[in-house]
Formats: sequence, structure tokens, C-alpha cells
Amino acid sequence: MSYSKGISCQGATSITTFADFLCTKLSAPLRQAVYDKTAIDIASEMKSKLPAFNGNRLNLENSILVYLAEKEDFEEYKRYIQLTKYFFEEFIKQRVDDYCLDKNNPKLKNSLNNSLDSFHTLVLSAIRDATEVTKDRRGNVSLWLDEFCRRLLQHLTLPRDDLKSIEHQEVTDIEFLKEAMSKALAPVVENLKQDFAVIDLEPFSRKPHEILAEQLGGCWEKCPFCTAPCTNTIAGHDGKHSVPFHRPQAVAGWYFHTTDNLVPVICSSLVASDKHYRLSVSEDRLIPYKKYWEGGPPYSDWRITADMSEQSYWKWFVCRFKTELEELYGRKFEGYGEIPSQWENIPKDNALRELKKLYPSVSQKE
Ligand SMILES: [Zn+2]
Ligand SMILES: [Zn+2]
Repeated sequence: MSYSKGISCQGATSITTFADFLCTKLSAPLRQAVYDKTAIDIASEMKSKLPAFNGNRLNLENSILVYLAEKEDFEEYKRYIQLTKYFFEEFIKQRVDDYCLDKNNPKLKNSLNNSLDSFHTLVLSAIRDATEVTKDRRGNVSLWLDEFCRRLLQHLTLPRDDLKSIEHQEVTDIEFLKEAMSKALAPVVENLKQDFAVIDLEPFSRKPHEILAEQLGGCWEKCPFCTAPCTNTIAGHDGKHSVPFHRPQAVAGWYFHTTDNLVPVICSSLVASDKHYRLSVSEDRLIPYKKYWEGGPPYSDWRITADMSEQSYWKWFVCRFKTELEELYGRKFEGYGEIPSQWENIPKDNALRELKKLYPSVSQKE
């Protein structure tokens, strides 16, 4: 009697040890899976809730233009013009931080806990199913592990090979294994819950802002005349780069060769004119704007349609930051480069209203 009791005790201990070992192994993959799922959930939640993110690249671009005009800070504009892709990424990251790291609004914690709950349920049902199958087939621990890992395969990275050391364990009471596993899982889940209570995006290996930047990214080539970024949503796309609205060339620092004045003319107007451009200061060769592609790359990589419909936004910008642009490029808006007087009368509100009318989703309140 005492002998068989001894065996049974030993069996129970080894099952508990087995369960503890397996649940410890589960902790890291579980944490990883929760972070990965939460990052995706937050990114899609933000895409549906924030107007800046719920359209395409062009919509985001316009949200950024509205943001810049509201801040009216030339340094920010300069970063946007010179480091466009980086600026987009920073803009997205800032919105993600605001959304997730608000101490009074535990969105991140709730999202992590929801993911954890769903993975916890998943593991519990994998334990239950593996137990059923093993009992039906009168299988051993090795079969149980096969079934368990197979069920988690799509959701967690728990390689079956890592569990070879325990697959020969003598476990006769599979039903008890089920209970031991559920019990051993509870503290693992509890520990993770405590980790997730800290509001921090650092532990995410793939962060929500990276997912959003990837989804809202695309081509980052900029018009060689005016720096307007190509709005194609595919990086390395076929065909020419293009953008619906170009900007005054002074934004990119273009100036008249003869008079050294900044050029307040929009490139889509220039390609309809009889004017020429020079490939570089040292070259005498002049390229007619009408055949701007003859300048070769990067000019020939763009499709710039002669178009007189101009956006007020950049006209307002050039007037508002005239002095700053003159300082930045060390040249003046004088003589040939005189800013058209009608540009001076464009109020910021009108420029923004026009932008918002073109892209309605920008106008919603965030
Ligand atoms: Zn352009
Ligand atoms: Zn492009």
C-alpha cells in the first residue's frame, strides 16, 4: 500500500514538474505574441479612429500640412522639406505615443490585457484538446506535446524540438496533466499581467508606429524642382513619379541664374512656359521646361503635367516665411523673383479650407 502510494506521489510530482517546466517555456513566446498582436491591434484601431491615418498617403500628407500650418514654425517646415520621410515617421510616432502613453487613459494596458486574455484562452483550449486526443488514442506525453504544439503553432512560437528533453517523461495520468498545466499557467499569466501594467512601448519588438509607417508609406522620391513628395503608395513603383500639386520652386531653393533671385513659380506652371532651367551652376546647357525630361534623371523620372490650377497653401507659405526662406537659401525674392502681389492676400484659413475641401477626411476633428 505504502509502495503504491509512493509511486503515485512520485507521479504527481513529476507531472507538476513537467507542467511547471512547460509553462515556464511558454512565458517568453506568450509575451512576444501578446506584444505582436497588440501592436497590430493598436495600429488598426488608430487607423480607424484618427483622420490622419484613415486614408492613403496623400491624406496623411495633407494632415501633416494642416498640422504644420497650425504650428506655423519654420524649423518644423524645414525638417519636413529636407527630411520628408523621417518627418512622416516622427509625425506618426508622436501620434502613437500620444495615443498609447497617456497615463490617464490606459488604452495600452487594456489592449495588452485583452490580447493576453485571448492567448490564455487559446492555451487552455490547446491543453484541453491535446488531452482529449491523447486519451482517445491512449497516447503518451510525446503525443500530448505534439498535439499541444500543433494547436499553438499558428499563434505562438513554441518549437516542439525544444521540448525533447521532457517528452520521455513517464506521465500516465493525462487528466491530471491537464489540471497541472492549467494551474501552472496561472502564475505565468499573472506575471505577464504585471509586466503589462507598465505603460511603455519599448518592449514591443515591432512597434505600432512602425506598422503604421509601413502601411502609410510608399514612394519617397521628391520632385527635383519643388520637393513635393511623390504620392504613389508603392515604393519602387513602375512608371514615373507624380504628385497632384507642385509647389513654388523657391521651396527647394531654386533661383534665377542671371539675377540670383529665388523662383516663386510653381513647376507645373513652368513646364507650360518657354523658360529654361540649368542642370548645374557649372554647366551652360539649358533645358527647356517644356521638355524638362531632357535633363535626364531625376527630371526624366517625373511626370509633371502643365497645370495652372495651383494650391493656395504653398503660396501662403512662401509669403508667410519669405524672410526665413531668404535666410535659408541666402537669396532674395526680388526683381524676377518678386512674389506675386495676389499671393500676399491669401489668408491661412483660406489655404487650409481649400486643402480640407480637396481631402475631406482631413477636416474632421481629431
Ligand atoms: Zn515640382
Ligand atoms: Zn514615386
